[in-house]
Amino acid sequence: MRRVSILGATGSIGQSTIDLIARDPEVYDVVALTGAQNISQLIKDAKALRAEVAVTSDPSRLDELRDGLAGTGIEAAAGDAALIEAAARPADWVMSAIVGAAGLAPGLEALKHGTTLALANKESLVTAGTLLMSEAKRLGATVLPVDSEHSAVFQALIGEDISAVERIIITASGGAFRDRPLDALDRVTVAEASNHPNWDMGQRITIDSSSMFNKAMELIETKEFFGIDANKIETIVHPESLIHALVGFNDGALMAHVGPPDMRHAIGYALNWPDRKHVPVERLDLAAIGQLNFRAPEAARYPALAIAQKVMEEGGLTGAVFNAAKEQALDGFLAGDCRFTDMARVVNGVVDVMLSREGLQNATITLDSVNQADSMARALACEEIAKIE
Ligand code: NDP
Ligand code: MG
Repeated sequence: MRRVSILGATGSIGQSTIDLIARDPEVYDVVALTGAQNISQLIKDAKALRAEVAVTSDPSRLDELRDGLAGTGIEAAAGDAALIEAAARPADWVMSAIVGAAGLAPGLEALKHGTTLALANKESLVTAGTLLMSEAKRLGATVLPVDSEHSAVFQALIGEDISAVERIIITASGGAFRDRPLDALDRVTVAEASNHPNWDMGQRITIDSSSMFNKAMELIETKEFFGIDANKIETIVHPESLIHALVGFNDGALMAHVGPPDMRHAIGYALNWPDRKHVPVERLDLAAIGQLNFRAPEAARYPALAIAQKVMEEGGLTGAVFNAAKEQALDGFLAGDCRFTDMARVVNGVVDVMLSREGLQNATITLDSVNQADSMARALACEEIAKIE
């Protein structure tokens, strides 16, 4: 039996992971499942998969979770310390799919028992990439990318030497507003921004796709995971979302990874790695698809991409600042406190202010320094948002 845990089990990635694991009950022994607010789903899955422990990050929901699991023998727990404790339980494979910076500490904890960490939580790499990757190396743990673009790059690099890579091209759908007139972008609503043309994902990452903050995160993730220079990482708008990434080699070859826009592919790849096993995703009918399109990303439409370049060049804690400001700006947009187009202005402003203070670029990245930079950036972002009319 393979012992597996799913951090963020009730979310979009978590549920796709459960879909794959539940098909093979003889193969997987479920250790921990975690969620936050969706207690009924957490109870249902913990019972169906006979998990050892179910954890909600919200202590005020513990009684509900405990009541739902009464008599099953499944432990119920709540709060940040319980999340860490759940992540620390020995498992062969751990899915890191909590949304936001909250996913970093549990993921780091899971590395301590030398597990294979399937990393969907992109914030871990953006805020603390060097810490996560060096800890994995030090502890003999394996980190596998689950973000579809990085899974694609990882697969294109099998058997290749990274020194032969000239460029990595990350594709972007262009999001909900790729064809919206530029002067209409400051009036788009949360409902419109929450509608992805191709992928079915959690609300926060979907809005980040509309603004291309998601792609900005992915460029930084690419640099951190593959250890490649920022100037070798490119973005191309590819409206069909069928090519997930391309790797360009020094002989001019481009290796593209093509697949349906279904996260179960990347999750299944990480689950079965280093083998390939059957994954129940759609098989593409290329003749029916007919053509694939590409266009350069417009700088004015997607200011997040230029901010990502700055973050990659500056390094250090700039990623933690960027992510925190982005999370706060997104909260502001969701709450109706700022417009869609204000998000990039707020994030850019916070990054610049924090960069003007000494030491951000050269700071040592630890969980504490990341949390500190995160809090300062959130406070600054709140101030910026409060100034918006
Ligand atoms: P969802 O919002 O669908 O799910 C997030 C999960 O995290 C849920 O289980 C949620 O619990 C839990 N959660 C929320 N807040 C907290 C918190 N403060 N502490 C602990 N747990 C919390 O997100 P997605 O599944 O879409 O995304 C998960 C991660 O994977 C993100 O980092 C995202 O960027 C990344 N990713 C997602 C992709 C996708 O296709 N969805 C693709 C590539 C990467 P509950 O629902 O019970 O409240
Ligand atoms: Mg992605």
